[in-house]
Amino acid sequence: MTTASRGWTRAVWLASAFLLGFTFWMMQDDAGQQSRGNDDSWSAERRRMVRTQIEARGVHDTAVLRAMLEVPRHLFVPENLHSQAYADGPLPVGHGQTISQPYIVALMTEALDLREQDRVLEVGTGSGYQAAVLAEIVREVFTIEIIEPLGRQAEKHLHALGYSNVRVRIGDGYQGWPEQAPFDAILVTAAPDHVPQPLVEQLKVGGRLIIPVGRQEQELVLLHRREDGIARRVLTPVRFVPMTGEAEEAMR
Ligand code: SAH
Repeated sequence: MTTASRGWTRAVWLASAFLLGFTFWMMQDDAGQQSRGNDDSWSAERRRMVRTQIEARGVHDTAVLRAMLEVPRHLFVPENLHSQAYADGPLPVGHGQTISQPYIVALMTEALDLREQDRVLEVGTGSGYQAAVLAEIVREVFTIEIIEPLGRQAEKHLHALGYSNVRVRIGDGYQGWPEQAPFDAILVTAAPDHVPQPLVEQLKVGGRLIIPVGRQEQELVLLHRREDGIARRVLTPVRFVPMTGEAEEAMR
């Protein structure tokens, strides 16, 4: 072989190696794009949800909007409902219970006027979605669920997603969580026909409690514990599943 043709062979070899490497790199990049593309389609749905359902209805608290953009709501609903997870309504999560409409989650969270250092109690863990939204904003979340398998599943999802600042307890939330009280804020997602007194007592002075109250007709009530008493404000009519356990027994 002449020197010239040897040089030529080497150039062809180098070019092929380069092409092979380049193709491989492109393929890898393609795969990367695909998984990001997937995430992107869910986050695009979340952006749309926040813009059209939440901001459009007047929720503007930046911490709340950021949390709603962040939490993968589809991972808190059964797999066959993933595609509906960002729709404008509640969805069934099993055991006759529901995950609240995104707007109601945002509205209730905003009403609590949360600070980063807050410790918050939730009554009615359900899917765990609301707890995750709270956990994005505050230091510690304590959540109580009366239906054991629901609570356990929510706990599993929360921990798998890295929400290590949420503690789940199985039990009746009517009496609150005395060992962890007092709380800066309490959020109740099942409706009793009156505000449970133990919850009011577990609020710090300056603390806020949001709760749906009523039987057929319910309204969202916001209580603010002040030095000199309790301020009460009604926000909007709502529809939640009834609070069971002691709340229900007290009704009879
Ligand atoms: N916050 C939930 C929505 C839950 S629906 C979410 O983000 O998915 C209301 C939940 O309250 C149901 O799971 C129901 O089982 C629970 N619940 C009803 N009465 C309760 C009680 N007394 N104590 C604790 N949980 C209760």
